[in-house]
Formats: sequence, C-alpha cells, structure tokens
Amino acid sequence: MKEILQDLTYDELNALMSSLGAERFRAQQVAQGLAKGKKITDINIPKALKEKLLERYEDEPVRILETYTGADGTEKYLFRLADGNIVEGVLMKYKYGNTQCVSTQVGCRMGCRFCASTLHGLTRNLTAGEILSQVLVINALHTDGKARGVTNIVLMGSGEPLDNYDSTIRFIRNVSCATSLNISPRNISLSTCGLVPQMYRLADEGLPVNLTVSLHATTDAERARTMPIANKYTIREILGACSNYFNKTGRRYIFEYSLIDGENSEPEDAKALIQLLKGRPCHVNLIRLNEVKERSLRSATERKAQAFLKLLTEGGISATIRRQIGADIGGACGQLRASYLHTVDEGPEE
Ligand code: SAH
Repeated sequence: MKEILQDLTYDELNALMSSLGAERFRAQQVAQGLAKGKKITDINIPKALKEKLLERYEDEPVRILETYTGADGTEKYLFRLADGNIVEGVLMKYKYGNTQCVSTQVGCRMGCRFCASTLHGLTRNLTAGEILSQVLVINALHTDGKARGVTNIVLMGSGEPLDNYDSTIRFIRNVSCATSLNISPRNISLSTCGLVPQMYRLADEGLPVNLTVSLHATTDAERARTMPIANKYTIREILGACSNYFNKTGRRYIFEYSLIDGENSEPEDAKALIQLLKGRPCHVNLIRLNEVKERSLRSATERKAQAFLKLLTEGGISATIRRQIGADIGGACGQLRASYLHTVDEGPEE
C-alpha cells in the first residue's frame, strides 16, 4: 500500500508541497480538495505535481463498496480500503444533524462476546487518514446544495479506538481542523471498552471529546463473563479514570450498558448500577443488544429495558434507552462486515 495523504496535518502538507517544489497556495488547494472528499486525481493542480503525489500516495484510501438504507433513513456503508480490507460505517440522521459512526481498526482484539467486530480478531489498525477518509467520502455525499453533511462523529464502528491511540488522536485533531471538516471535538464521541492508561492519556490531550465507556456489567466477575478486558482493568480503575477525565476536561462521561437477557438486565442489576454510579457526573445509555448470528447472547425484552430505565431514573441516574437504529440493516458493530465476509468468496488481502 502507498502512503495516505489524508494522514498529514496541514503543516505537514505544507512541508510536503514545498519539498516537491510547489507554490505555497497549492497546499491550501490540495487541503480544500481533500476536505471535499476528492481523489488526488480530481483536484485541480498541475499535472506534474499530481503525478508526484500519486507516485507516493493512495488516490482513494477509502471507497464505498456497498450502501444499505434502513427504513428509518439510517445508511450503512461498507468501505473498501486500498489494500482490499473492509470496514463499515453508519450515518444516522437526526433533527440536529447527521452523526457518522466510523471504524478505527479492521476487526478488533478485545474479544467482547456480544460483538461481531471481534469475531475474526484484529487484522490491522487504520491510519488517521483512513479514519478521516470515511468521513470525507460520506460528508461529500451529503453536502449537496443546502443539506448539511456530517455534523457529529462517534468512534463506535469496528475496533477499539484507544488500542489504536496515535491514529485516533491524529484523526480527531485533523478532522477538527479548520482546513479540513472543522468538526469540533465536542461533537465527537469516543467509545472505549475501558483501556485505563489510555483514558488517562486522553484526558491530557486538550481535546474535549465525549468519553463513552462500555460498562455492560456492575461487578468485575460479571463483566469478565462478556468482556475479557475486565480481567485486566477493574471497574473501580475505570471509574477512577472517568473522574480524572471529568476533572481535567469538565466533561460529563457516558456509560454504555447493553441489556443482555439473563446476564445484566434484572432489577437487582439496576440497583447495583445505581449504587455504582450515584452522584457521578455521568449518563447511562441503555442499548438493547443487537443479536449477532454467530453469538448465543440474546437481548432483554423491551419491557425489561423499560423497567430497567425506570429504576435507574428513580434512583437518580440520568439514563436513556438508545433508539434502535438501523437494526434491519445489521446496525451493530461489525455485523455487516461479518455477513459480507461470509457471502464473498474473495476475502480481503490479509
Ligand atoms: N471498542 C469500543 C467501540 C465499540 S462499539 C468500545 O468497546 O466501546 C460501540 C458500542 O457498541 C460498545 O458499547 C459495544 O460494547 C457495543 N456493542 C457491540 N456489539 C453490540 C451488540 N451486538 N449489541 C449492542 N451493543 C453492542
């Protein structure tokens, strides 16, 4: 694979252009073209300069392979990377704007039992520019005329963002840059299964992203049943890292709690969750499990989910049930890629 031009910061792009002997305004022109989701080929620069760039950089780091549109307007995409690997993304349309869910890794090595992304383990990390390019191509598709493109980003596609720390941070810095899409870190949510040391590092980056932690259980022993990472970091350590994040950034944090039948969705689980989180500046996102064909876990019923929510709310915990979006199009993390890999003979070049 060639290098990825979208990896570069604006300063690095400037340095590159001058090293290629181009005038200074060319960097601005290239940055504008990339921000519009253009291929290098389609940016209006001199042929010789374009050829030099194409020798070294991928023309199309991310290409849309398939688009699926759900009944609720949610769009789900399969992206093909330059080496043939496949990742997925989702665009959810809300009244206030469009939220795109992006992938940070091909596969994942965290091994959560309910998740489809981890079924084949980790293939590789994405570069910052590959993460960014997912947003660039989708934003370009939705910015015609008056329509707003991507306004919010969630790092909740396949992969564990904090397991690909440097690329994730570089992506957040680049996408929030005025010379790129200018999407504020405040409109970006980073979801982690709870990699404690990296959560501390993140708090010191000066990037006020919304920190979201996948909790899914109230004791370490229970958590370890579905999330192997619980054997490495305790809930107490995770809560410590969340408090530190709040102290450093002033930002409330969010817990994701997927309701799994027979695992974590009984009234006593709600009570334990209240005890754990009482008084904390946090919000709980309850998610009804998206059932994954390859996994035996089942979702709690809607009734149980409502009862769980009621208990949390009465217990003083801010909580909502996340609207189940795109369930008809394989909305959950990694499901689409997994089913795609099943149906094609020719897998990605790994
Ligand atoms: N690696 C990050 C991002 C993962 S995806 C993390 O662990 O947070 C975002 C959320 O979807 C996580 O909370 C994850 O635990 C959850 N998730 C994964 N598979 C799911 C499924 N089948 N049903 C419901 N939620 C799921």
